[in-house]
Amino acid sequence: MRLRRLAALRAPAQHRHFDSASPPVADAPVRKGRARRHRPRRTMQIRVLGCSGSIAAGSRTTSFLVDDEVLIDAGTGVGDLALDEMARIDHIFLTHSHLDHVLAIGLLADSVTRLRRAQGRPAIQVHALPQTLQALRSHIFNGVIWPDFTRLPDPAAPVLSLVPLALGEVLVAAGVSIEALPAAHTVPALGYAVWDRARADAGAWVFTGDTGPNPALWQRLAALKLHSLVIETAFRDEEHVLADISQHLCPTRLRGELAQLREPTDVYITHVKPGELDAIMSAIAAHASPHRVRALVAGQSMSV
Ligand SMILES: [Zn+2]
Ligand SMILES: [Zn+2]
Repeated sequence: MRLRRLAALRAPAQHRHFDSASPPVADAPVRKGRARRHRPRRTMQIRVLGCSGSIAAGSRTTSFLVDDEVLIDAGTGVGDLALDEMARIDHIFLTHSHLDHVLAIGLLADSVTRLRRAQGRPAIQVHALPQTLQALRSHIFNGVIWPDFTRLPDPAAPVLSLVPLALGEVLVAAGVSIEALPAAHTVPALGYAVWDRARADAGAWVFTGDTGPNPALWQRLAALKLHSLVIETAFRDEEHVLADISQHLCPTRLRGELAQLREPTDVYITHVKPGELDAIMSAIAAHASPHRVRALVAGQSMSV
């Protein structure tokens, strides 16, 4: 499968510039002197707000904050952000329409409306596949489940703006590049590769999103230099039938997927259901792997 790469020139938000960007290439030669041409910048920080497959005390669903302004998925982990941290988010990238990944968008919009309006901030751009955006319009922002924040507080200056994103597209926001990767799930879905434009040599942080076995992803990742990989393992092997039906991974399927990663990689397991972590990590550890595999932890910060 060939990925479509679209030039991603967009009408820029008032404060942010969007354009296309080159991804970190596997085995790319290091360009000497590059660092001297760039103003020193602290490393890109990815804060894990939630990485659980569902909720319980201490378990929050999928959400990552990239530096201060970019959110990837909007699960219940968003609720741990302070109000001023929420108000700094200008872009939300969604993997797919399932509730555990989108339910905080409407609540976040409600929380930050006054602050952003007072500061004259533009609409928060919600980037996702067209099918995902349509699902939000039909099933959440429909005036029944939640008000339509794409028209509030004022249709001319709403707090949310829904922006279609295509597979293979690369966007740049606040110095961070984000590429939409393939995912194989029960609804149209994406994963994301994220890298620091000023430090592409550090490689890309990759999040698979919710996915079953996904050959197109490994084909794309073969050409990318990876910093680390966050990959889901939602079910135990005992529930492999459920994993297959719902297009998620179990430890056995994970092994087949990671065998397609060429270089030894730092791998973080995500989307484990509450109470299942020990069983899933034990099953993963029972088989030798060239990769360094560990559980992702809510609250941890990843420096890329
Ligand atoms: Zn899902
Ligand atoms: Zn999910």
